[in-house]
Amino acid sequence: MPQNSKKTVLIVEDNYQNMVLVKEILTLNGYETIEASSGTEALKILTERGSEIDIILMDLHLPQMDGITATRIIKSNARISTIPILALTASAMKGEEDDILERGFDGYVAKPIEVKKLVAAVSDSLEGRENGR
Ligand code: MN
Repeated sequence: MPQNSKKTVLIVEDNYQNMVLVKEILTLNGYETIEASSGTEALKILTERGSEIDIILMDLHLPQMDGITATRIIKSNARISTIPILALTASAMKGEEDDILERGFDGYVAKPIEVKKLVAAVSDSLEGRENGR
């Protein structure tokens, strides 16, 4: 695999242990990662380096600006609105799943994080994007 074909994931997570875990899983599976610990930091990174980012993993509960607000802002900005956003959420009960999708997220990954589910969600979402789905 050529170096430049690596996909870049922006991880937005304020819990250190979750951040380390997600970063390690993605790195081991061939992804580049960029880290942000709040919604405002994520938006700053997207403003400066949005074209480098292929997919976003967004925690919902974050300091300064929560993940739902950050997602609403991202999805209203034409320059970055096509980047898929997966919610990182402990509340992935039926019904809440629909709520997450209605709020503009493209999918979710349930916490506690399971390696296979995280990797599958990220790769499925990236494939969907490339196929224009
Ligand atoms: Mn959090």
